[in-house]
Amino acid sequence: MSRERETISGARGLDRDEALSFEQDSPGRSGVDLPPVPDAPDRLGDLRRKDAIGLPGLAEPQVVRHFVRLSRMNYAIDYGLYPLGSCTMKHNPRLNERLARLPGIGDVHPMQPQSTTQGVLRLMSELAHWLTELTGMATVAMTPGAGAQGEMCGMMAIRAAHEARGEPRKRVLVPESAHGTNPATAAICGYEVDSIPSTADGRVDMAAFEAKLGPDVAGLMLTNPNTCGLFERDIIRIAELIHGIGGYFYCDGANFNAIVGKVRPGDLGIDAMHINLHKTFSTPHGGGGPGSGPVVFSEALAPYAPLPKVIERNGAFELVEQEDGPRVGRMKGFHGQFGMFVRALAYMQSHGRDGLKQVAEDAVLNANYVMAKLQDLLPPAFPGPCMHEVLVSDKGLDGTGIETMDLAKALIDEGYHPMTVYFPLIVHGAMLIEPTETETRQTLDDFIAVMRGLVEQAKAGEAEYFKEAPTMTPRRRLDETLAARKPVLRWVPDVPLADAAE
Ligand SMILES: *Cc1c(COP(=O)(O)O)cnc(C)c1O
Repeated sequence: MSRERETISGARGLDRDEALSFEQDSPGRSGVDLPPVPDAPDRLGDLRRKDAIGLPGLAEPQVVRHFVRLSRMNYAIDYGLYPLGSCTMKHNPRLNERLARLPGIGDVHPMQPQSTTQGVLRLMSELAHWLTELTGMATVAMTPGAGAQGEMCGMMAIRAAHEARGEPRKRVLVPESAHGTNPATAAICGYEVDSIPSTADGRVDMAAFEAKLGPDVAGLMLTNPNTCGLFERDIIRIAELIHGIGGYFYCDGANFNAIVGKVRPGDLGIDAMHINLHKTFSTPHGGGGPGSGPVVFSEALAPYAPLPKVIERNGAFELVEQEDGPRVGRMKGFHGQFGMFVRALAYMQSHGRDGLKQVAEDAVLNANYVMAKLQDLLPPAFPGPCMHEVLVSDKGLDGTGIETMDLAKALIDEGYHPMTVYFPLIVHGAMLIEPTETETRQTLDDFIAVMRGLVEQAKAGEAEYFKEAPTMTPRRRLDETLAARKPVLRWVPDVPLADAAE
């Protein structure tokens, strides 16, 4: 193989490093050329700003190129496979985008009179109906802004229910494999987090769970399928036990993609569950659009669900914003992420009942395909079959000197966003791979070939490369701890960024 050539510009073909816009400042330069302000009475007086606000002087093409170049450093679902476990990075259908942009939908204002927004209220009501039907639950709170806020909403309802009975409780049980948001939610709602160990096959340890039950337990937070990509076989018994001591069952519904259309969480005895529309129902994640985390509630918790809700009365749709009762307060301004509701409903209606069921089946099939094709080199952490994601430990890398992180970084050189790494915490060097149902077999085969090739290179003793990877990106290995602990949120001229973090 020929040695890589250092370029004069430092760019690697179309990929180049990019200075901060502030570092590109040329004082006085401007993208627009406005005529001087004509003399006019000064109505602002003392309120007028006296110092410059410190925006960099840039020409319009510089600004456009700056952001286009930065965007090229990003990875996106529209670019390639995004096997980030627990995140359900599926394709965002363009039909959804088209509908969300229809003038009567895209231009609607939340403070319009309800008589002029009957169509969008009906749309919210229909989505609410689909969500409660698919989950077998009594009601849904539409407003939470993402899964994590949905968890908070659900746990606040559980708290309100206990308080209404005059017996606030102390502890919430959370399996040790849980997503970090679960214990964080329980803690922020004022509960003590009590962790339940997992068994050797990656599920709740029933004996340990039963031993922890008591009259001070407010509830259980459990993900199903769990974060090991496995269905909790004892879930019905788990629900009976938690209800038996007067507690409630919160399910983290982030993994609903694995069972949508196949299993209704309400039938399993769940009392509250958030649904990440940006996971299961294909709305964009993060930079592509806001998240959305409606929460469904069982009959037992329905009286505590926060408002607003849409009802139909005398042939008209109505948004109920206030009501007497023990409800949790508003979770968010206005009515939630309406643009995401449009996309989610478009997704549901374009798939239909049978199509949604096939979503779950194909998601599970794809994950098991990846597992089967990798297992001789990267054995699964727990015996399969898995659900919608496959969890692998770093056992396959034993003796190579290479760790999970090194393999993940090498994947970046290969043009892939890495899988989720080091989560869940209960598996050493965990790699959690979730292909989703929207990938073709060809895409999966290409990814499998890269993963296999990398493990074979690792075994062949190419540790030196792996420790350096990624080698083809404008930035190499970043100090993620420093970035999290000492973020530089404000650029100060003449202070190098490295010093600013000190
Ligand atoms: C994604 C996820 C969450 C949090 O959801 P957000 O929408 O990112 O706030 C919680 N639990 C699990 C298991 C998840 O995968």
